[in-house]
Amino acid sequence: MRRRRLTILLGVLVVLGLAATPGSAAGFGTIDTGGQSREHERLTRAALSCAGDARTDRDCFEPTTMDYLAGHDHEFGAVGAPDSDELSDPGAHCDGADYVTGPYPQTRTQATAALDDCLNQMRIRFGEGLDAAQRLLGPDGEVLANEVGLDPECRSREEREVRAKCAALEGFGRALHGVQDFYSHSNWADEADPTRPIGDENPPGLDLPAPSPLLDLRGPAPDPPVDLTTGCYVARDEVPGVGDCRLRVTHAGLNKDRGQIDPVTGAATDPTTPRGMVGTNFAKAVSGAVTETRREWQDFRSELVARYGSEHGERMICALTHDDPVNDCARRNLAVATAVPIGLAAVAVGAILWIRRRRTR
Ligand SMILES: [Zn+2]
Repeated sequence: MRRRRLTILLGVLVVLGLAATPGSAAGFGTIDTGGQSREHERLTRAALSCAGDARTDRDCFEPTTMDYLAGHDHEFGAVGAPDSDELSDPGAHCDGADYVTGPYPQTRTQATAALDDCLNQMRIRFGEGLDAAQRLLGPDGEVLANEVGLDPECRSREEREVRAKCAALEGFGRALHGVQDFYSHSNWADEADPTRPIGDENPPGLDLPAPSPLLDLRGPAPDPPVDLTTGCYVARDEVPGVGDCRLRVTHAGLNKDRGQIDPVTGAATDPTTPRGMVGTNFAKAVSGAVTETRREWQDFRSELVARYGSEHGERMICALTHDDPVNDCARRNLAVATAVPIGLAAVAVGAILWIRRRRTR
């Protein structure tokens, strides 16, 4: 009898131990030539990869999934997709919202409209990602194997990709591209060259922190600061501006696109663009983009839970981040995962009490 009680007690401890164990849990450049060093890929990895400093985040992205989200080798990935098929659309990269106080070729209102175009494109992509996530789960909330497979790799740019995980990551990744470009293409987080006069060739820097209230993709954007500017972009991207960009702040003059980024820590060094080389402008643009990328992922998760409920929302988050969702996300719901062992423990304790009462009788 004593041994049986010990066995039951051990069983209770094991069950409780299991219950306490958590579940397993251009703008910036895209390619590796022409002065680009895969900046979008590297900063996305630094922000969200389980292999980087984001590993403490329960919802970090596992390696194969991250390869598609951030891109790898010659693959643009979801974040790099706008540099493949939306290269000439200024709204996909937050270009063209240029303005400097004083006589200027476009008004503050026109510049703000161009910024709104960029923000609205991000909102649409963000929403497409949220919509696609719905198809990750079947009618009983189960993860659907054919919607989460990553072999072959997602091909969102080239053909109509039908897998829900590919489509959800593509929408989210394209939104991230715009968010990241905002920091390299605008003066939100940078400073002007103190050795030169302020003007279209050296617009003021706002030196503001991330995240930016402008990039809250879930609500209406507030008015931008009056001195906020991005750069005008044409094929002949030069300082001073030519063609449509004459007398305007240009992408060439303002961008902080190029330099070295550590994909684990996000440390940014060796800037190579003129504005990026002023002070710590390149590092500020990269750290702003990393912070903002993490904020957007937080917001994306919050929206999944708000839209689809906590059980399904959490399982979608698991399916979007894990390389083997069918096995890893079956019982994502912590309430269910802990209720069963705790119930078993209660039964065991009840059995012990019943045995003890019988013995004392
Ligand atoms: Zn871009």
